[in-house]
Amino acid sequence: MENYHDLLTKQRTFFQSGKTKEISYRIQALQALGQLIRTNETEIMAALKRDLNKSEFDSYITEIGIVLEEIRFSLRHVKKWAKPRKVKPALAQIGSKSYIYPEPYGVTLIISPWNYPFQLAIAPLIGAIAAGNCAVLKPSELTPQTSKLLATLIGQTFPEEYITVVEGAVETSKALLNENFDYIFFTGSVSVGKVIMEAAAKNLTPVTLELGGKSPCIIHKDANLKLAAKRIAWGKYLNAGQTCVAPDYLYVHRDIKEEFLNALVNAIEELYSNNVFNSGAFTKIVSERHFNRLLGFLSNGEVYYGGKQEMKSLTIEPTILDHISWNDSVMQDEIFGPILPVLEYDIAEKMVEKINARPKPLSLYLFSESNEFQSFILNQISFGGGCINDTVYHLSSPYLPFGGVGESGIGAYHGKGSFDVFSHEKSVLKQTTSFDLPFRYPNRKNALKQIKMFIK
Ligand code: NAD
Repeated sequence: MENYHDLLTKQRTFFQSGKTKEISYRIQALQALGQLIRTNETEIMAALKRDLNKSEFDSYITEIGIVLEEIRFSLRHVKKWAKPRKVKPALAQIGSKSYIYPEPYGVTLIISPWNYPFQLAIAPLIGAIAAGNCAVLKPSELTPQTSKLLATLIGQTFPEEYITVVEGAVETSKALLNENFDYIFFTGSVSVGKVIMEAAAKNLTPVTLELGGKSPCIIHKDANLKLAAKRIAWGKYLNAGQTCVAPDYLYVHRDIKEEFLNALVNAIEELYSNNVFNSGAFTKIVSERHFNRLLGFLSNGEVYYGGKQEMKSLTIEPTILDHISWNDSVMQDEIFGPILPVLEYDIAEKMVEKINARPKPLSLYLFSESNEFQSFILNQISFGGGCINDTVYHLSSPYLPFGGVGESGIGAYHGKGSFDVFSHEKSVLKQTTSFDLPFRYPNRKNALKQIKMFIK
């Protein structure tokens, strides 16, 4: 079995040298990372094209641009984030001062998936660097061109004892998990998330788990249907539905269902043409295994739109399935493909009940013009994050920490959130020596009475 003990020892020794904690070192590393991405934009796009047939436009907005923004944001704020923060002392601690020192965990492991293979490896790395850690990256084996490019570029830019990429599949991941990391940041499926947490538990290693699940998209009867259709078509079929926060299924109010589905078909054709096999710009399904799994869903309910597929290019056209019920196989697990099942509702409370009977979703989208209905949904359903009157967009703000809840994940990142997940907050009380409050000591007369004046 592969053994990464020496690599970890090297990184740990380097971390202990204190170099990675220096703010100037972190800034230089973030700048170098930004430079690496800008210089190699064409190569990154080419790798994503080969791995997933991603268009340059999609690659830029969802993989490259988003991490460049994160780097810029981190560079602007890292000095402030890393500073110790003074907080108030408690009443019984008069004379002392209290501080929170953000400190890096040490040697961190980042395991990433294949669907946004560049972004989901680099975005956590930005947090690891900003917080002053060393990092080992394990990209997905299912997108080998991007994985190889990441290994080459990171290898050219950073010393191995600071940041390195380890390429490989499940066995490599397992071998890495045998080592005692100080932090593990995992993005991937719920089932593998459980494996990661179990491995981390052996050493009590803290984890962030960015997982997935079935994200509902509710279209209420008062929604702006045309705009809803366009924003849903974009969020669902972007990356051929292989997006953790893609709307997994629709819950449409019965009164507007027909009108909405018509608008959705128009939006699909407007955004992706009516023949994605000819357009050359529609993302493919990552592997034959994933392709075949998705084909199995096409016999559920009734194909309302689309349904055509092509094995040689691993392409499935944007598809809408109508007459779907919760018993259909497409409604059991996350779909992760360009297939959109439609459920309808009449009574909102019942629809909420059905959603709440399942694990808490990573995302939820609601289309409605009514503030009251929006508040009702936000109050009733727990989910990682989401949008009202849009899809997917919440993910791109550095001011909105992104993560799941319950089965959809643990912890949230982006912006300051990325710095925070890779930092331990060390609380320190600095006591005065110029006087010594006597109430705390048990030998004082009336000690209890006096201490109760402070602690009630
Ligand atoms: P996956 O869980 O199969 O794999 C993710 C990573 O874990 C890969 O690097 C893989 O090599 C490794 N891995 C796989 N099996 C392992 C095992 N038994 N032990 C140790 N490591 C193992 O996920 P995937 O198929 O690459 O990605 C799709 C999933 O990721 C979807 O469920 C999606 O919702 C989720 N996802 C979540 C987010 C998010 O930010 N929350 C983003 C993208 C994808």
